[in-house]
Amino acid sequence: MPELPEVETYVRDLTPILSGRRVVGARVAWPRTIAWPDAEMFVAQIVGQQFAQFGRRGKYMLLGLASGLTMVVHLRMTGHLLVAPADAVAAPHTHVVMELDDGRHLIYQDSRKFGRIWLVTNTASVLAKLGPEPLDDAFSAQGLAASLRGRTASIKALLLDQHIVAGVGNIYADESLFRARIHPARPGGSLNEAEIATLHSAIRDVLSEGIANAGSSLGASGLQNYSRPGGAPGGFQEKFNVFRRTGQPCPRCGAMIERIVLAQRSTHFCPMCQR
Ligand SMILES: [Zn+2]
Repeated sequence: MPELPEVETYVRDLTPILSGRRVVGARVAWPRTIAWPDAEMFVAQIVGQQFAQFGRRGKYMLLGLASGLTMVVHLRMTGHLLVAPADAVAAPHTHVVMELDDGRHLIYQDSRKFGRIWLVTNTASVLAKLGPEPLDDAFSAQGLAASLRGRTASIKALLLDQHIVAGVGNIYADESLFRARIHPARPGGSLNEAEIATLHSAIRDVLSEGIANAGSSLGASGLQNYSRPGGAPGGFQEKFNVFRRTGQPCPRCGAMIERIVLAQRSTHFCPMCQR
Protein backbone atom coordinates (compact mmCIF):
# COMPACT_ATOMS: atom_id res chain seq x y z
CA MET A 1 0.00 0.00 0.00
CA PRO A 2 1.35 3.42 -0.85
CA GLU A 3 2.24 5.26 2.38
CA LEU A 4 3.26 8.85 3.08
CA PRO A 5 6.55 8.85 1.07
CA GLU A 6 4.91 7.26 -1.97
CA VAL A 7 1.95 9.68 -1.89
CA GLU A 8 4.30 12.63 -1.38
CA THR A 9 6.30 11.49 -4.42
CA TYR A 10 3.09 11.35 -6.45
CA VAL A 11 2.23 14.90 -5.47
CA ARG A 12 5.72 16.20 -6.26
CA ASP A 13 5.84 14.39 -9.60
CA LEU A 14 2.31 15.44 -10.60
CA THR A 15 2.70 19.13 -9.68
CA PRO A 16 4.70 20.22 -12.77
CA ILE A 17 2.70 17.90 -15.05
CA LEU A 18 -0.79 18.98 -13.95
CA SER A 19 -0.25 22.59 -12.88
CA GLY A 20 -2.52 24.79 -15.03
CA ARG A 21 -3.83 21.83 -17.03
CA ARG A 22 -7.55 21.68 -17.70
CA VAL A 23 -9.69 18.54 -17.81
CA VAL A 24 -11.45 18.42 -21.19
CA GLY A 25 -13.11 15.02 -20.90
CA ALA A 26 -13.62 12.25 -18.37
CA ARG A 27 -15.06 8.76 -18.04
CA VAL A 28 -15.54 6.39 -15.14
CA ALA A 29 -15.49 2.65 -15.84
CA TRP A 30 -15.89 1.45 -12.23
CA PRO A 31 -18.36 3.79 -10.49
CA ARG A 32 -17.47 2.67 -6.94
CA THR A 33 -14.05 4.29 -7.34
CA ILE A 34 -15.83 7.62 -6.95
CA ALA A 35 -16.64 7.94 -3.25
CA TRP A 36 -18.20 11.42 -3.62
CA PRO A 37 -20.34 12.58 -5.45
CA ASP A 38 -21.55 9.74 -7.72
CA ALA A 39 -19.72 8.79 -10.91
CA GLU A 40 -22.09 10.69 -13.22
CA MET A 41 -21.86 13.86 -11.13
CA PHE A 42 -18.09 13.47 -10.86
CA VAL A 43 -17.74 13.49 -14.65
CA ALA A 44 -20.10 16.48 -14.94
CA GLN A 45 -18.16 18.44 -12.32
CA ILE A 46 -14.56 17.55 -13.26
CA VAL A 47 -14.81 18.44 -16.95
CA GLY A 48 -13.69 22.05 -17.44
CA GLN A 49 -11.78 22.16 -14.16
CA GLN A 50 -8.18 23.40 -14.03
CA PHE A 51 -5.56 21.96 -11.65
CA ALA A 52 -4.19 24.75 -9.47
CA GLN A 53 -2.66 23.47 -6.24
CA PHE A 54 -1.25 20.26 -4.91
CA GLY A 55 -0.93 18.84 -1.44
CA ARG A 56 -1.05 15.76 0.73
CA ARG A 57 -2.51 14.82 4.09
CA GLY A 58 -1.43 11.44 5.49
CA LYS A 59 -1.91 8.97 2.64
CA TYR A 60 -4.42 11.24 0.85
CA MET A 61 -3.44 13.15 -2.28
CA LEU A 62 -5.05 16.58 -2.62
CA LEU A 63 -5.38 17.90 -6.17
CA GLY A 64 -6.83 21.40 -5.84
CA LEU A 65 -8.82 22.92 -8.70
CA ALA A 66 -9.03 26.60 -9.62
CA SER A 67 -12.80 26.58 -8.86
CA GLY A 68 -12.11 25.77 -5.20
CA LEU A 69 -13.08 22.11 -5.50
CA THR A 70 -10.49 19.53 -4.44
CA MET A 71 -10.03 16.07 -5.88
CA VAL A 72 -8.95 13.84 -2.99
CA VAL A 73 -7.36 10.51 -3.97
CA HIS A 74 -6.59 7.57 -1.68
CA LEU A 75 -4.75 4.75 -3.47
CA ARG A 76 -5.38 2.14 -0.70
CA MET A 77 -3.81 -1.23 -1.68
CA THR A 78 -3.06 -1.15 -5.39
CA GLY A 79 -4.20 2.21 -6.79
CA HIS A 80 -1.99 3.97 -9.34
CA LEU A 81 -2.43 7.47 -10.78
CA LEU A 82 -0.63 7.62 -14.10
CA VAL A 83 -0.10 10.24 -16.76
CA ALA A 84 0.01 8.73 -20.23
CA PRO A 85 -0.11 9.90 -23.85
CA ALA A 86 -3.63 9.77 -25.32
CA ASP A 87 -2.64 7.04 -27.75
CA ALA A 88 -1.08 4.76 -25.10
CA VAL A 89 -2.55 1.26 -24.93
CA ALA A 90 -5.18 1.26 -22.18
CA ALA A 91 -3.71 -0.20 -19.00
CA PRO A 92 -5.63 -3.09 -17.43
CA HIS A 93 -7.83 -2.17 -14.43
CA THR A 94 -8.28 1.41 -15.63
CA HIS A 95 -11.29 2.79 -13.74
CA VAL A 96 -11.15 6.55 -14.35
CA VAL A 97 -9.69 8.50 -17.27
CA MET A 98 -9.39 12.29 -17.30
CA GLU A 99 -8.38 13.83 -20.63
CA LEU A 100 -6.13 16.87 -20.23
CA ASP A 101 -5.92 19.90 -22.50
CA ASP A 102 -2.31 19.01 -23.47
CA GLY A 103 -3.52 15.73 -25.00
CA ARG A 104 -2.34 13.52 -22.17
CA HIS A 105 -4.54 11.37 -19.96
CA LEU A 106 -4.60 11.24 -16.18
CA ILE A 107 -5.52 7.62 -15.44
CA TYR A 108 -6.65 5.97 -12.24
CA GLN A 109 -5.86 2.25 -12.31
CA ASP A 110 -6.42 -0.23 -9.47
CA SER A 111 -6.37 -4.05 -9.71
CA ARG A 112 -8.00 -4.59 -6.31
CA LYS A 113 -10.41 -1.65 -6.57
CA PHE A 114 -10.11 -0.47 -2.96
CA GLY A 115 -8.86 3.03 -3.85
CA ARG A 116 -11.27 5.98 -3.76
CA ILE A 117 -11.62 9.45 -5.27
CA TRP A 118 -13.66 12.28 -3.76
CA LEU A 119 -14.50 15.64 -5.37
CA VAL A 120 -15.36 18.02 -2.54
CA THR A 121 -15.59 21.69 -1.62
CA ASN A 122 -14.34 21.06 1.92
CA THR A 123 -11.60 18.45 2.42
CA ALA A 124 -12.44 18.24 6.14
CA SER A 125 -15.39 16.05 5.16
CA VAL A 126 -12.83 13.39 4.17
CA LEU A 127 -9.83 14.18 6.40
CA ALA A 128 -11.34 15.31 9.71
CA LYS A 129 -10.38 12.25 11.76
CA LEU A 130 -6.72 12.06 10.76
CA GLY A 131 -4.02 12.38 13.40
CA PRO A 132 -1.04 14.77 13.16
CA GLU A 133 1.10 15.02 10.05
CA PRO A 134 4.38 13.32 11.09
CA LEU A 135 6.77 15.77 9.43
CA ASP A 136 4.97 18.84 10.82
CA ASP A 137 5.42 20.50 14.21
CA ALA A 138 1.94 19.19 15.06
CA PHE A 139 3.57 15.79 15.61
CA SER A 140 5.57 15.97 18.85
CA ALA A 141 7.13 13.37 21.13
CA GLN A 142 4.86 14.66 23.92
CA GLY A 143 1.78 14.27 21.74
CA LEU A 144 2.84 10.76 20.76
CA ALA A 145 3.38 9.91 24.44
CA ALA A 146 -0.12 11.14 25.26
CA SER A 147 -1.60 8.99 22.46
CA LEU A 148 0.22 5.87 23.70
CA ARG A 149 -0.46 6.31 27.42
CA GLY A 150 -2.36 3.36 28.89
CA ARG A 151 -2.70 1.63 25.51
CA THR A 152 -2.42 -2.15 25.61
CA ALA A 153 -2.38 -2.68 21.83
CA SER A 154 1.01 -3.39 20.24
CA ILE A 155 3.10 -0.38 19.27
CA LYS A 156 3.06 -1.73 15.69
CA ALA A 157 -0.75 -1.68 15.59
CA LEU A 158 -0.82 1.80 17.13
CA LEU A 159 1.59 3.20 14.53
CA LEU A 160 -0.77 1.94 11.81
CA ASP A 161 -3.69 3.77 13.47
CA GLN A 162 -4.17 6.92 11.38
CA HIS A 163 -5.72 8.74 14.36
CA ILE A 164 -2.38 8.57 16.23
CA VAL A 165 -0.15 9.61 13.34
CA ALA A 166 -1.19 10.06 9.70
CA GLY A 167 0.60 8.42 6.79
CA VAL A 168 2.55 5.58 8.42
CA GLY A 169 1.80 2.10 7.08
CA ASN A 170 3.37 -1.34 7.29
CA ILE A 171 6.74 -0.59 5.68
CA TYR A 172 7.57 2.60 7.57
CA ALA A 173 6.22 1.30 10.90
CA ASP A 174 8.57 -1.73 10.77
CA GLU A 175 11.55 0.36 9.67
CA SER A 176 10.88 3.03 12.35
CA LEU A 177 10.65 0.43 15.15
CA PHE A 178 13.91 -1.16 14.00
CA ARG A 179 15.71 2.19 14.12
CA ALA A 180 14.29 2.91 17.56
CA ARG A 181 15.24 -0.63 18.75
CA ILE A 182 11.70 -1.29 19.97
CA HIS A 183 10.04 -4.71 19.70
CA PRO A 184 6.88 -4.31 17.58
CA ALA A 185 4.71 -6.44 19.90
CA ARG A 186 5.31 -4.30 23.00
CA PRO A 187 2.15 -2.66 24.35
CA GLY A 188 2.12 1.04 23.35
CA GLY A 189 1.63 2.06 26.97
CA SER A 190 4.84 0.27 28.07
CA LEU A 191 7.21 2.59 26.19
CA ASN A 192 9.10 5.02 28.41
CA GLU A 193 9.72 8.68 27.66
CA ALA A 194 13.18 8.11 26.15
CA GLU A 195 11.91 5.31 23.90
CA ILE A 196 9.03 7.46 22.67
CA ALA A 197 11.42 10.33 21.88
CA THR A 198 13.66 7.93 19.93
CA LEU A 199 10.66 6.47 18.09
CA HIS A 200 9.34 9.94 17.26
CA SER A 201 12.69 10.85 15.63
CA ALA A 202 12.92 7.46 13.90
CA ILE A 203 9.48 7.90 12.30
CA ARG A 204 10.46 11.30 10.92
CA ASP A 205 13.86 10.08 9.70
CA VAL A 206 12.48 6.99 7.97
CA LEU A 207 9.68 8.95 6.26
CA SER A 208 12.11 11.68 5.15
CA GLU A 209 14.50 9.10 3.70
CA GLY A 210 11.56 7.38 2.02
CA ILE A 211 10.62 10.67 0.34
CA ALA A 212 14.25 11.38 -0.62
CA ASN A 213 14.32 7.97 -2.35
CA ALA A 214 10.93 8.49 -4.10
CA GLY A 215 9.17 5.83 -2.00
CA SER A 216 9.24 2.03 -2.00
CA SER A 217 8.11 -0.25 -4.84
CA LEU A 218 7.42 -3.87 -3.93
CA GLY A 219 6.75 -6.81 -6.18
CA ALA A 220 7.80 -7.73 -9.69
CA SER A 221 8.14 -5.11 -12.39
CA GLY A 222 4.73 -4.31 -13.85
CA LEU A 223 2.94 -5.73 -10.80
CA GLN A 224 4.21 -3.22 -8.29
CA ASN A 225 2.16 -1.89 -5.40
CA TYR A 226 3.41 1.53 -6.35
CA SER A 227 5.15 3.23 -9.22
CA ARG A 228 5.64 6.92 -9.94
CA PRO A 229 3.14 8.75 -12.21
CA GLY A 230 5.48 8.25 -15.17
CA GLY A 231 5.77 4.52 -14.41
CA ALA A 232 9.25 4.44 -12.78
CA PRO A 233 9.69 2.55 -9.50
CA GLY A 234 10.75 4.16 -6.21
CA GLY A 235 14.15 3.39 -4.65
CA PHE A 236 13.68 3.04 -0.90
CA GLN A 237 13.07 -0.75 -1.12
CA GLU A 238 16.84 -1.01 -1.67
CA LYS A 239 17.42 0.55 1.76
CA PHE A 240 15.14 -1.61 3.91
CA ASN A 241 16.74 -2.87 7.11
CA VAL A 242 14.00 -5.31 8.13
CA PHE A 243 10.92 -5.03 5.91
CA ARG A 244 10.43 -8.27 3.90
CA ARG A 245 13.96 -9.36 4.88
CA THR A 246 12.84 -12.41 6.90
CA GLY A 247 15.77 -14.84 7.34
CA GLN A 248 18.35 -12.33 6.14
CA PRO A 249 20.97 -10.85 8.49
CA CYS A 250 20.25 -7.73 10.50
CA PRO A 251 22.50 -4.96 9.10
CA ARG A 252 23.29 -3.86 12.66
CA CYS A 253 24.04 -7.12 14.52
CA GLY A 254 23.89 -9.96 11.98
CA ALA A 255 21.03 -11.86 13.69
CA MET A 256 18.33 -13.27 11.39
CA ILE A 257 15.36 -10.98 10.77
CA GLU A 258 12.10 -12.56 11.94
CA ARG A 259 8.51 -12.20 10.78
CA ILE A 260 5.42 -12.24 13.00
CA VAL A 261 1.83 -11.16 12.41
CA LEU A 262 0.48 -8.19 14.40
CA ALA A 263 -2.83 -6.46 13.69
CA GLN A 264 -3.23 -8.92 10.76
CA ARG A 265 -0.13 -7.45 9.15
CA SER A 266 3.26 -9.02 8.45
CA THR A 267 5.76 -7.50 10.85
CA HIS A 268 9.52 -7.74 10.46
CA PHE A 269 12.07 -7.13 13.21
CA CYS A 270 15.49 -8.10 14.58
CA PRO A 271 15.09 -10.31 17.69
CA MET A 272 18.47 -9.13 19.03
CA CYS A 273 18.19 -5.36 18.43
CA GLN A 274 14.48 -5.11 19.28
CA ARG A 275 13.78 -6.82 22.58
ZN1 LIG B 1 19.94 -6.68 14.93
